[in-house]
Amino acid sequence: MNPATALSKSSAMTEGFASVVNFNPTIAYFSMEIGLETDLPTYSGGLGILAGDTLKSCADLGLAVVGVSLIYHKGYFTQEIDANGEQVERETNWDPAEKLRLLPQKIILREIEGRDILVQGWLYCCKGTAGKEVPIVFLDTDLEGNAEQDRNLVSSLYGGDNEFRLKQEILLGIGGVKYLRALGFHDIKTFHMNEGHSSLLTLELLRESRRTIFETWDEDTTWDFEKVRSQCVFTTHTPVAAGHDVFSYDLMQKILRTGISLTVLKKICGNGVLNMTTLGLNLSRFANGVAKAHGDVSRNMFPTYQIDYITNGIHVPTWTHKPFHDLFDKYAKLWTRDPKYLRQAESIPCGEIWDAHMQCKRDLLDEVRRTTSVKLDPDVLTVGFARRSAAYKRATLMFNDLDRLISIAENSPGLQLVFSGKAHPRDADGKKNIKDIHRYIKEIEKRARKLKVVYLPNYNMRLGFLITGGVDLWVNTPIRPHEASGTSGMKAVLNGVLNLSILDGWWVEGCIEGVTGWAIGDLDTHPEMSLEELARFDARQFYDKLEKNVIPDFYERRSDWIEMQRHAISINASFFNSHRQVEQYVVKAYFYP
Ligand SMILES: *Cc1c(COP(=O)(O)O)cnc(C)c1O
Repeated sequence: MNPATALSKSSAMTEGFASVVNFNPTIAYFSMEIGLETDLPTYSGGLGILAGDTLKSCADLGLAVVGVSLIYHKGYFTQEIDANGEQVERETNWDPAEKLRLLPQKIILREIEGRDILVQGWLYCCKGTAGKEVPIVFLDTDLEGNAEQDRNLVSSLYGGDNEFRLKQEILLGIGGVKYLRALGFHDIKTFHMNEGHSSLLTLELLRESRRTIFETWDEDTTWDFEKVRSQCVFTTHTPVAAGHDVFSYDLMQKILRTGISLTVLKKICGNGVLNMTTLGLNLSRFANGVAKAHGDVSRNMFPTYQIDYITNGIHVPTWTHKPFHDLFDKYAKLWTRDPKYLRQAESIPCGEIWDAHMQCKRDLLDEVRRTTSVKLDPDVLTVGFARRSAAYKRATLMFNDLDRLISIAENSPGLQLVFSGKAHPRDADGKKNIKDIHRYIKEIEKRARKLKVVYLPNYNMRLGFLITGGVDLWVNTPIRPHEASGTSGMKAVLNGVLNLSILDGWWVEGCIEGVTGWAIGDLDTHPEMSLEELARFDARQFYDKLEKNVIPDFYERRSDWIEMQRHAISINASFFNSHRQVEQYVVKAYFYP
């Protein structure tokens, strides 16, 4: 079937969609990845989970939002670790039809190399705690009639080269806006770009508002930039220049077909390269970073723009373990409706916090035993480190001085470390980190009696849930200021797990030393140090805090420890959640005058 025939067959709104979500969205939230459930492999890490948590809070709060992303038929990837500690990547096999419904609407996209590409959406209904729903549309091109290369555009998340990426971004941004129109959504007042991957949506909005030949002759005034600016909101998540999504204009000219001239494009996308962040910033009425420190960094990187900040949060009902769920129901009623009520966690009796925590810990240790056959001791201080294995996160920092780590453990009642994380298939440094950790595990098995280390393969939402809630201490050791926000430490907090982390991202705001957790080092920067020196320096601070504060508090001052767990929930979980985050988006970004 050729795409044009398929298009003519698609009808307007069918009763299926109308009956599921009978509403007219005013906000469209675009993200290259959206993580909603473990078995919906449409995410790779923090960015996607954040998008999912944000949309869940939108549903809870009853906002008229629609989410837009791409479907990935082979997911991100499923991770196995071989006997040498090497990451092995397998395709994730799943059937979208099990979780999503294929919408009847089809559109033709012509912006990728001028071919007719048929695009159809899968619908996920995100149901909020009060019963309201937010529809999320995952665009698909793996359809009969499309050329093989276009069918492959939705094979995997962040797969392929730069050219592939650009095509995916055209599909998301331009295809996304066109698809929303096909769904009959014409009253959208805000297009929210969650990171630069969707910035090309601005070009479709420009096309929509193009002045006619009766209004202007001149290309410069053809495009109504102000109109587009009034419709868009941009969130940047990238604190380093090298991390921003850029494409060469040569590549762009080869692939992207818009009616916009190169001269005009260069004005809005940056001169040397097509920079998706520049495009997003230029055509948005509001832009923000994702934590206070990240707002500062973003303003330094883009000094000519106004960039606010809204600190990220997590979706509290998703990330709360059952034992704490029950406690919050008892002591912080209404917390699922509004997590600000978690402030009242201060009144939970210490004994009940500890009992709830120990249940979460046993759940994790059961999982560890099932997957690694290692039996960890529930009475031993257990430390978690799980996240995308990107080099800047420095997953091996804790092993920087192996002798010292072993000696700290041997001179204590015991120490257990739980690791997990996937490296991007083309990230050699990230993969090396995983291999190194496995090498350390073997060495520690030989040399230490009281130090145990395990690695759980295939980090995903389920493991994230189990590990963040089931350890005693959550550690994050990024190179500052590379952690824009981070959210896994917030999941820990919600379940009474304390943080010991570098003062970067959200932790700059969340850390009250000795009250909600501990900092590794301070806010000073050390530009004079090489990466190796900085790692040695930060590792030393980590060992000091672990030895002098964390271990004694855990083993000898248990009531102080539990007191801190309570503060962490009350002070931090009541704030670092996606309800508060979405409320701030509403006030600052969505209904901005
Ligand atoms: C929460 C979460 C993340 C984000 O964690 P950070 O430590 O903030 O990078 C990534 N992956 C999974 C599976 C998660 O659950």
